[in-house]
Amino acid sequence: MYAVYKDQLKNQQRFRQKNHERILLTEKETRKRLRKKAVAVLGSKCIWCGIDNVLVLQVDHLNGGGNRERQSLGSPGIYRKIIRGSNEYQLLCANCNLLKKIRSNEVSSPRRKY
Ligand SMILES: [Zn+2]
Repeated sequence: MYAVYKDQLKNQQRFRQKNHERILLTEKETRKRLRKKAVAVLGSKCIWCGIDNVLVLQVDHLNGGGNRERQSLGSPGIYRKIIRGSNEYQLLCANCNLLKKIRSNEVSSPRRKY
């Protein structure tokens, strides 16, 4: 039994090594496709200021804990939750997300340099 499992594992490792580039590309494309769907589900614009440039939009965790969840589920896992209808998230642009973090003391206010 163990020998069979060991063989399967070796075959999987060989497959991943042989197809490394293709797997990375597929994972990247999957992540992009999921992000696009998740952004659409969340309304495709910052709920604070209304900017709709997808390049600056970020998924915000309404109740915090985003870093912890990103480490455990990864971005694709979070996007899948959003697509399935979770109401734990909102879309903010990078500026509004930073302002929210400063106001809720998640990060300290940046020092003014001038
Ligand atoms: Zn905004």
